[in-house]
Amino acid sequence: MADIYDATIICDHCSKPTDKAILVKNGFKIRAWFCRKCKKEWLHPSDLAAYNAFKRLKERDFRVKLRLVGNSWAISIPKEIIEYEDVTVSKTVQLSLDEPGRLSIFFTSMRKIIK
Ligand SMILES: [Zn+2]
Repeated sequence: MADIYDATIICDHCSKPTDKAILVKNGFKIRAWFCRKCKKEWLHPSDLAAYNAFKRLKERDFRVKLRLVGNSWAISIPKEIIEYEDVTVSKTVQLSLDEPGRLSIFFTSMRKIIK
């Protein structure tokens, strides 16, 4: 099925074909159309919905417990984040200590990156 982004969108103000662009918000890529003449932009509806879902999660402050499991320590990742990252089975993720007191987890999901 063709994506709406493949279509040419006509500006509802000046009736000229719009140009396509990719906006980056918080590292999130959103496909858009814009009219050079009217300086108006339209965001791709599914990219916008995905971005809003991301933004709602980003604004939350999760508190999780750090506990000893055998010789390692474990934290529970809230299910909202796991669902957002499309994790359905046990997997290996990449961890890195960014700076003292700050740890990053990299999920390998590439679904939010638009080619
Ligand atoms: Zn226009």
